[in-house]
Amino acid sequence: MFKKILIANRGEIALRIQRACRELGVKSVVVYSEADREAKYVKLADEAVCIGPAPSAQSYLNMPAIISTAEVTDAEAIHPGYGFLSENADFADRVEQSGFKFIGPTGDSIRIMGDKVSAKQAMIKAGVPCVPGSEGALPDDAASIRAIARKIGYPVIIKAAGGGGGRGMRVVHTEAALINAVQMTKAEAGAAFGNPNVYMEKFLQNPRHIEIQIIADTFKNAVYLGERDCSMQRRHQKIIEEAPAPGIPRKLIERIGDRCTAACKKIGYRGAGTFEFLYENGEFYFIEMNTRVQVEHPVTEMITGVDIVQTQIRVAAGEKLPFTQRQIEIRGHAVECRVNAEDPYNFMPSPGRISLWHPPGGPGVRVDSHAYTNYFVPPNYDSMIGKIIVHAPTREQALLRMRTALDETVVEGIKTNIPLHRELMADAKFMQGGTNIHYLEEWMKVHKR
Ligand code: ADP
Repeated sequence: MFKKILIANRGEIALRIQRACRELGVKSVVVYSEADREAKYVKLADEAVCIGPAPSAQSYLNMPAIISTAEVTDAEAIHPGYGFLSENADFADRVEQSGFKFIGPTGDSIRIMGDKVSAKQAMIKAGVPCVPGSEGALPDDAASIRAIARKIGYPVIIKAAGGGGGRGMRVVHTEAALINAVQMTKAEAGAAFGNPNVYMEKFLQNPRHIEIQIIADTFKNAVYLGERDCSMQRRHQKIIEEAPAPGIPRKLIERIGDRCTAACKKIGYRGAGTFEFLYENGEFYFIEMNTRVQVEHPVTEMITGVDIVQTQIRVAAGEKLPFTQRQIEIRGHAVECRVNAEDPYNFMPSPGRISLWHPPGGPGVRVDSHAYTNYFVPPNYDSMIGKIIVHAPTREQALLRMRTALDETVVEGIKTNIPLHRELMADAKFMQGGTNIHYLEEWMKVHKR
């Protein structure tokens, strides 16, 4: 096992990784920007090093600063968390070339999966079903683009090969709107992701977002840890996640899970990862793979009892997976609500000082958050300030538990989306289970404030 790990991230996930390190007896070094100077988890770390000013480009995305911090603190490995440099193949390469372990897959795996076009091609090869779409990146000439769309059938969705975080996507309903949409998405993709390639997919009308968590070691062992349902989204961004996915037959999950682990073995994947699918009429369609730990990993930890972050660290240190597929048992139901510092109905960010923070508690309640009373939420980063996760024997009990937890939570001084979560937990359709990816936006239209 490593003696010391550098955590190249901030906020709740930096704290989550720090906790995993502590239980493994590993010392942690936290890097932070000037905006995060007063954060408590920074003070709790064994060592903390300021690596730059608030803008991410000069701190959390600053590769030389992070790698030289690992050097001067004698860290042996770097955990990238999610976001920031976690899916940057060049970073993974530079970390390993500098003599540190990157806690994640190889740069080459990240490179293949980071480009959604090459990811889909790799998945088709590995026998994973994909959304019908263009064979690769779209060509330049309008006639060919039109022909591809006609073959797929409208509506279609134009997606950036390098896209992420729900950005770089445009739905097209008619041929008249097609070429303009492709050009706009290309221009945006070039500016936002440094890769102007776009591709086309059939726009599925009523799918659910179902994803499979996998973890693989360097001995060709790969295990899937069940599925998560992340269909409650706004602007393609998840806000509520749960596991297992209500109403999907176990047989189907097992079949797709086996495909995912087979694909991992085929591509020589190591570490934690998530295969994201759209699920419609009993069929799974791969959309992308995330080559890192995900925000919603706790719901899987709750129902499987597996500590995903500790397992990531173990396999990076060269250990074998401590469990086999047959040992993975799904127990009960877990739900996560992402707590964002934002207006609950118009979603405007609401950074600032939290004058009172009172998290919920009780059996089966977990709060992953770096917030506390008097914590200042900086305006520079993502608005998520924590996650409330509940676990109970049944989905019905889990939803009740979440309602109690949300009622107990007090956050003053800033706005949060907790009022929205409270309404959704009592929404009849959501309570039935199985709502699709468009449900929340439709709900917002009806319940406009
Ligand atoms: P990102 O990397 O930005 O998260 P994804 O490819 O994972 O992008 O897609 C994010 C979300 O966008 C999906 O969960 C789904 O809600 C929607 N989406 C993506 N592709 C399609 C599609 N072909 N049809 C319908 N919705 C889609």
